[in-house]
Amino acid sequence: GNGPSGISLSYMLSGYRPYYNYSSSSSSNHDKNSSSSSNNSRHPNELLHARIMNMTLESRENILEQDLGLLSEGLEGRSTNPVALLFDALTNPNADLGMPRPPAIDWHFDWTAKYVPHVVIGKAMPGGTWQTMEKTMKSLSISSLLQLPGLPIDDWLLKHRLLLLFLASVDEACQYFLDFIDVNKLSKNFLNFHLVTKVQKVLAHSKKYLWEVTGIDSTGRPFCYRAPRLVLATGSSDRPNRLGVNGESLPNILHSHAEFETFINSRLASGRGKRCNSSCPVNDFVNTHPIVIVGSGLSAADAVLYALDRQIPVIHIFRSDFETLNKIYSNLSPVIYPEYTRVYDLMTQKVVLNGLYKSYPGVEILGFTRNHQVEEGFTFDVYGSLCVPECDQEQSLTIQASLVIILIGSQHNLSFLDDEILKNLYKTPKLLIDVNPVTYQSNQHRGLYAMGPLVGDNFVRYLGGGAMGIASHIIKDLSV
Ligand SMILES: Cc1cc2nc3c(=O)[nH]c(=O)nc-3n(C[C@H](O)[C@H](O)[C@H](O)COP(=O)(O)OP(=O)(O)OC[C@H]3O[C@@H](n4cnc5c(N)ncnc54)[C@H](O)[C@@H]3O)c2cc1C
Repeated sequence: GNGPSGISLSYMLSGYRPYYNYSSSSSSNHDKNSSSSSNNSRHPNELLHARIMNMTLESRENILEQDLGLLSEGLEGRSTNPVALLFDALTNPNADLGMPRPPAIDWHFDWTAKYVPHVVIGKAMPGGTWQTMEKTMKSLSISSLLQLPGLPIDDWLLKHRLLLLFLASVDEACQYFLDFIDVNKLSKNFLNFHLVTKVQKVLAHSKKYLWEVTGIDSTGRPFCYRAPRLVLATGSSDRPNRLGVNGESLPNILHSHAEFETFINSRLASGRGKRCNSSCPVNDFVNTHPIVIVGSGLSAADAVLYALDRQIPVIHIFRSDFETLNKIYSNLSPVIYPEYTRVYDLMTQKVVLNGLYKSYPGVEILGFTRNHQVEEGFTFDVYGSLCVPECDQEQSLTIQASLVIILIGSQHNLSFLDDEILKNLYKTPKLLIDVNPVTYQSNQHRGLYAMGPLVGDNFVRYLGGGAMGIASHIIKDLSV
């Protein structure tokens, strides 16, 4: 995977090392010319400060060489992986207390470090799931929490825009990830637009097991690598959740924002959409038969905004009641996220957009049937049941639509792994891969590692922890 996880790991395997920036004596063996965010103040977590000082003063080495398990003991946060919390504590001290401090580590290229040969394989452009999101949307995290090791994103944003707001757009995040690869000269390690289709363990001549990774490039040409170590960094966005109801596989029932965007763009490009002015393209087809968006989360909200911006009428169906919606949306400040507040107000019917938007809360979709043929394709009946709390009854509901977009979350897709590997890969229940919390190595398969959402590190701020754990383990292993 060539998302932020794979990018961070490539950075560390290429020779970049983290040094605690409190004491200048700890930086004796690295290149002092490289960019530094040193603040020379101690980490606000006294225990962490004391542990790092003890370790790095004795050995004068970088943090990857230390005992990461010991350093991360007792840290708390929104990851269950201790090294992810350590990385976050060092990169974003006090972030969750609302009093952010500059990073407590500086990253330097270590000329004495051995480059660990590696290849980062990804089926699209580097940037991972960010490349598939609507580019004008704002990130949910403040920009500093999207930072990859060693390239301060706020400095980067300042160079690329006039105003420094605290949020990056998806487009900016993607560009930042690409620039990160460029600035740190990592591109030689990247094999983009290559799809991995099979991974299996094979016995090499040396009687050691190797990981065999095969796949195809974008022209269908096959490739194959054999390596002693394999890192799964494929994220959790590749397999959209489905409703599991009748008719869900009919054409024009979509399961991702990218498909929705492609659909709308192709209709506009083929002339079937007419433009009322340059900023307001109206598609005749969807104008007469509204589109249905299913889901109450932020991805569904993004799709609603995308449609409304193009004057496309939306029927928005979701199972949640208003109380559940409040839990999702009340965390988002209306000042920072006015667009999500707008969708929330529409969903809860505080605001009405006659003819353009209608919400159906508390609806369980039961299926889709093909309806009548129209010039541009055909329409659907979306049928479901609507819970009416006042009379404690269920009513049936049928809505006619031209297009349905179902956005109800996603899961990872590791179907390229051999059954033998898949069999005992997971923790129970089967959601996360079972890895050592410090090294991120599989507890069942030696030489297999996993990072990012696959092991429960769901935000960019934590991904460097997986990279630190894996790089540290590999570097130590190679030096014995
Ligand atoms: C809508 C949305 C909004 C988000 N907003 C935020 C936010 O504001 N802040 C935040 O911190 N996090 C946010 N996240 C989460 C964030 O995107 C993830 O934490 C992060 O992208 C995980 O990085 P990753 O590299 O592990 O995986 P991914 O970014 O998912 O990248 C994995 C890559 O592996 C590739 N891949 C998968 N299978 C194969 C294969 N067989 N062959 C080749 N390549 C393959 C995929 O195509 C993908 O490019 C958001 C996620 C979503 C879905």
